[in-house]
Amino acid sequence: MAILTALIVSPDNCRVNIFTDSQTCIQNFHKIFNTYRYRKLLKVKNYHLWFIIKDLIIRKNLTVDLIKVKGHSNDPHNDRADELAKASAKATALIAINTRSFSHSVVTAKWADKFTIFQDFRKWMQIPLNVSLYNTYINNDSIYNLAPAIKESRINWSLTHKLFKRTPHLRHDKLTRIFSYRIKNINHSLPHGDLKHKHYPKLYTDPNTWCPLCNLYEDTNCHRSICTGFNSEIISILRKF
Ligand SMILES: [Zn+2]
Repeated sequence: MAILTALIVSPDNCRVNIFTDSQTCIQNFHKIFNTYRYRKLLKVKNYHLWFIIKDLIIRKNLTVDLIKVKGHSNDPHNDRADELAKASAKATALIAINTRSFSHSVVTAKWADKFTIFQDFRKWMQIPLNVSLYNTYINNDSIYNLAPAIKESRINWSLTHKLFKRTPHLRHDKLTRIFSYRIKNINHSLPHGDLKHKHYPKLYTDPNTWCPLCNLYEDTNCHRSICTGFNSEIISILRKF
């Protein structure tokens, strides 16, 4: 954005030297001028801005050189630029760009008609998709008793992820079985008492099935994770991390 602003105010037919501490900026600048494959250009972050910059340079016949300076090295101009960038990152007033004036774009994607998506569309789509997946998961009936813990951030996800991914070196079929067990475990769909009663009411006629390990609580998927009978097993797994 700073480069764009600087180029807008530059007079025509002149040489512009831009000093920046961002290597990515310099790389993207060269990428925009030297890549001819449109699909590749769309993967550059803020490619819309870069397209306008390219347009401006051609239209105003500018010669632009980007020069790398070291960041945070007491360069007064670089420090000032840093300050301004930080301040505007926090600013609530957004700058709207009229995407209709782009000569390079065939189409521009918009989210809920509110803002234009200025990055690789496929990558960006992961954000709403993840939110939707999370929503489906948290509203799943089978984990209703876990949902409050998830919402209150009481689950250590990085540890859960490690535990989930941690596998001994096994043959593929055995590995599949382990993964299937773990997936059923976190989704509360293991064949414990609760599901047995639900699916085979005629077979399991007792109103309650007691946990075979502790014999203190009902045998349910929810109890499976907190049963004291598993304590030693859980502790031995945790020690491995
Ligand atoms: Zn138990």
